[in-house]
Amino acid sequence: MLTDNALQILNDRYLLNRNPKETPDELFRRVAKYVANAEETNKDIWEQKFYEIMSNLAFLPNSPTLMNAGLENGQLSACFVLPVEDSLEAIFTTLKNAALIHQSGGGTGYNFSKLRPKDDLVSSSGGTSSGPIAFMKIYDSATEYVKQGGKRRGANMGILNISHPDIEEFIVSKSDGTSLQNFNISIGITDSFMKAVSKDKDWKLVNPRTQKIQKVVRASKLWNSITREAWKTGDPGLIFLDTINKNNPIPEQGRIGSTNPCGEVPLLDYESCNLGSLNLTKIVKQEEGKVYIDWAKLDTHINVAIRFLDNVISVNHYLIPEVERISKANRKIGLGVMGWAELLIILGIPYASQEAVELGEKLMGFIKTKSYDASITLGKERGTFLTWKESLHEPAEPLRNATCNSIAPTGSISVIANTSYSIEPLYALHYKRVGILENKTQIEVNIFFIEKMKQLGLWNKQVEIEVMHTGSIKGLKSIPKEIKKLFETSMEISWEYHLLHQQAFQKYTDNAVSKTINLPETTMVKDVADIYWAAWERQLKGITIYRNNSRAHQILQHCGLN
Ligand code: UDP
Repeated sequence: MLTDNALQILNDRYLLNRNPKETPDELFRRVAKYVANAEETNKDIWEQKFYEIMSNLAFLPNSPTLMNAGLENGQLSACFVLPVEDSLEAIFTTLKNAALIHQSGGGTGYNFSKLRPKDDLVSSSGGTSSGPIAFMKIYDSATEYVKQGGKRRGANMGILNISHPDIEEFIVSKSDGTSLQNFNISIGITDSFMKAVSKDKDWKLVNPRTQKIQKVVRASKLWNSITREAWKTGDPGLIFLDTINKNNPIPEQGRIGSTNPCGEVPLLDYESCNLGSLNLTKIVKQEEGKVYIDWAKLDTHINVAIRFLDNVISVNHYLIPEVERISKANRKIGLGVMGWAELLIILGIPYASQEAVELGEKLMGFIKTKSYDASITLGKERGTFLTWKESLHEPAEPLRNATCNSIAPTGSISVIANTSYSIEPLYALHYKRVGILENKTQIEVNIFFIEKMKQLGLWNKQVEIEVMHTGSIKGLKSIPKEIKKLFETSMEISWEYHLLHQQAFQKYTDNAVSKTINLPETTMVKDVADIYWAAWERQLKGITIYRNNSRAHQILQHCGLN
């Protein structure tokens, strides 16, 4: 059932290197057995359920759980946020903690806005400060070196708020295409900034150390610089801090300032989150020749998955005491999906259609309701999360987990499950994946596409060659329009539909949605500005775009390009 690409990834990164080497089946057994240790009764029954849902590729937890469960001191979470306080000691304490997290396969997000700006006063030395970007560069190099010994590339999210005096430098900090390559960078945006842009007003940059206004710039100047850079390199993205905090389930614990590296989990300092994703291609049933969503099956998968993720919090090994304390107090988990584009193809619904958007909303609404039901059942059985009383959750919702859902990018686990990434449209019908494994290129060909072509008697050498070179069937006259529409790929789909899908899933996702709006190379800066603006207006929690070929190294590529 595992494809060659899946086996290659498993073999390189996940299967234990003992003698003889672990098999994929043994991996799923190891993870299931270890995670079932959290069960007080019926441990064997739960172990079997966990094993089945993973080995059937219907649900997979985030990579660190697959890699490390059952190992001595196995760290199982993918997502962390660490504090960056304005002192040398604090900056390097966090750097040490980040190194430990990266070594275990986790990713870290930070907001650097508490750091005094470049050239500000340092009273202890009588000198001047280096500023947030200089410290980010140190974090970046450390990440580079840790990755050589670690399980996978360490990922970082670096955020600077729009009111920080170094914001102009931060916006262009990845502009040269070589700096901060281990960081995604995002601007911490507030509603008042967006209003200042819309009214073309001045915007104050405030020194976080003195709280004094250091500089005043036109809001629209910053905005234009952001959108131009994003057009140029894909960075920076935006994080909408007010929307995130409006939806913060435990505001008493403070304001959330950062997300994990890919943006799907807003977290407090030292919080971690365990992710898992349901494979949507595994919840279909056929009746009288028609294909339907099997809602009952989906419900069963959600129940097992939520229990699994809650167990992970209990059996996890924590590298940092502060992380253990807050992660166990809030018990945040993030159950999401992968294979959304392929589910739509199975159902015969084009991604770029209102029907697909509505189904996305309905599906995520169902997943949220059932996830909460499952968490409430656990809350009754095991007790609510410790800070539940302080939280905004209703008294009638004795939840076990402060949050239940996140839409993660599923960069590796969707390859293992052989399905489309997250809620993304198909990248292409035929493409290559470069650099995810050291020096290895993987080719992906969409099996649903070939199957459909064969079914319709349309599969021939001409189609094969065209798809190999362009990844698309758009230019082929011999293919009926509705088939072309069904197999539209990421860059052929308008940004409006990309955003509508993000919005549909965000509506019922208590954490956030990681989504990249993939754009053709010909996209204009003005389009990027429109997308970023629309993302704010629609109350998304964040936005990321990527324009084709805007970076020298691109992980997914059409084969015809080189
Ligand atoms: N992540 C990381 N390094 C990576 C990829 C991912 O630290 O190379 C972390 C990061 O926090 C990201 C999260 O894992 O937001 C989930 O990413 P994804 O769904 O792609 O991970 P997978 O479980 O598929 O490996």
